[in-house]
Amino acid sequence: MKVPRKIKAYCRHCKKHTEHEVHRIKKAKASELKQGQRRFRRVMRGYRGFPRPKPEGREKASRRVPLKLTCILCKRSHQPPSQRAKKFSIE
Ligand SMILES: [Zn+2]
Repeated sequence: MKVPRKIKAYCRHCKKHTEHEVHRIKKAKASELKQGQRRFRRVMRGYRGFPRPKPEGREKASRRVPLKLTCILCKRSHQPPSQRAKKFSIE
């Protein structure tokens, strides 16, 4: 999937369609202070180890691509529902 660097989209702060900059969201490193990370560290501490089951079956051919749209007028951003794509590039 190819997405242009700037697209027109609805901005709910400006209440109209405006130009938006497109950014791809990368997964942020988990903060050590977040509840999920604290629970993970606690479970990993004793015996029995990793709290989640191993993935079964084949890997999916496509992956979800989360995008962030930043309004050019008010500089605020929102995240539209993500779509699946085998290949992805911002032009
Ligand atoms: Zn706006």
